[in-house]
Amino acid sequence: MTHRRSGGQAERSRDTRSSDRLTAGLSSLSHLPAEFVGSFPDPLVRFTPPLPEVALIGRSNVGKSSLLNALTGRPGLARVSGTPGKTTLLNAFRLPGFYLVDLPGYGYARAGKAARAGYRRLVDRYLLERPTLAGVVWLLDVRHEPSKDDGEMQELLARSGRPVLVALTKADKLSRSAQTERTRAFAAALGLHEDQIQLTSSTSRLGIAELAAGIVAAVGDTE
Ligand code: GDP
Repeated sequence: MTHRRSGGQAERSRDTRSSDRLTAGLSSLSHLPAEFVGSFPDPLVRFTPPLPEVALIGRSNVGKSSLLNALTGRPGLARVSGTPGKTTLLNAFRLPGFYLVDLPGYGYARAGKAARAGYRRLVDRYLLERPTLAGVVWLLDVRHEPSKDDGEMQELLARSGRPVLVALTKADKLSRSAQTERTRAFAAALGLHEDQIQLTSSTSRLGIAELAAGIVAAVGDTE
């Protein structure tokens, strides 16, 4: 995550706690139950119990459902969508100690004006105002240049000030050398360090454990 760092004792003890959590978290995300909480139209809906949450967002068809399934080790948890852009709801999953929130995909070409406005209301308010949001995993397809919609999302994420981790999806579709080249290109295009960008593949599981560790660390940093 692109969180701020400070020195000192507090930071060191927090790091120790984070690394404990990391170990616990890696197994949590792949072995412990992830429970579907529900689908909600209200961006400020309160979950019970109140826990920190990490959201996943990306363009329709970027591979978000597949990544959520890979992260939790639960193949059928999030439906791999045959109908991109249909949803205007946020889907919440409870894991031990935090929630994962699947935000609807953006940039669905056939969505009408009203649907787009409804989408913006939901996602803008969620990202800008949600008190329990610890971080955002922003998914981008490794093969494509960031689109106009991606650019708008980048602006919104910057405005929100949330810690963001970029996950490049479908890395299995590229050779090793192309993966490295694309990671560099995304870092340059987005103005990020390469260590803020995680290559992933839900198919080969490349980078899934590392992404899980990043999510768990983001949750730990809020405490
Ligand atoms: P969503 O609309 O963002 O939730 O995307 P989905 O998870 O439904 O995936 C969209 C399409 O991309 C589906 O056909 C998936 O099988 C495919 N897909 C998703 N992740 C991967 C991946 O890591 N590798 C490959 N090769 N295909 C993927």
